[in-house]
Amino acid sequence: MMGHSHALSGVVGWMAIVPFVQGREFLGIQFDIGPGEIVAGSLVCAGAALIPDLDSKSSTISQTYGAVTRWLSLVFAWMFGGHRNGTHSLLFAVLLGVVTQVLALWSDLAVQVFVFLLVGIAFNGLGFGSEKNRVASEVITAMVVGGITLALYTSGVDYTWIGLAVAFGCLLHFIGDMATEMGVPLLWPFWKYRFGQNIGFTTDGKVERLIVTPALTVAIVLLTFYLFPWPELLPEA
Ligand SMILES: [Zn+2]
Repeated sequence: MMGHSHALSGVVGWMAIVPFVQGREFLGIQFDIGPGEIVAGSLVCAGAALIPDLDSKSSTISQTYGAVTRWLSLVFAWMFGGHRNGTHSLLFAVLLGVVTQVLALWSDLAVQVFVFLLVGIAFNGLGFGSEKNRVASEVITAMVVGGITLALYTSGVDYTWIGLAVAFGCLLHFIGDMATEMGVPLLWPFWKYRFGQNIGFTTDGKVERLIVTPALTVAIVLLTFYLFPWPELLPEA
């Protein structure tokens, strides 16, 4: 799947799961999801849904922060056995979720920085910014991403769920990859069998471009109407 489809699936996935987790407790974490958490979670999930491809130098995420992410992609590829190996396993999703949760418990500031980076990855994945004037578009994207992170912070978004959201974003990435012809070694390193190998649609083929990407976009619009408490958000007539 292409980067933008993965990012879109992160947004859809978070929005789709909100009605099921709202007001409930899961793994000791209470889900009180308001409009701010819907937006924040969608962007966190969208960014996280690109992280597994940090094992390839040419992926969207590896190109996001220039030399830093390109270097990180080499480290990840080395640690997890190359492209579509360890970073595409359940073990990786759990590990990343735990590391994120520990980070969140350790420092409020670290979470804000991490959210900023994830939102930047999400925006890049969604295709924000133009190629025509790269520097200007990158500066503007950075400003927008910073503004969003700050707005979410000042509106008091509570990130107690961030570890779960990041792990969930990784799972959505695996589902996306399994839906294409390339298999995913979910049980790596114990069993290197690739789930979903040779079944599904071609990456960036007609099905992805004409059906999957538009369907995900429509789902976001529909879920936005369904989830947000519009009467409370809109000024009274
Ligand atoms: Zn992948």
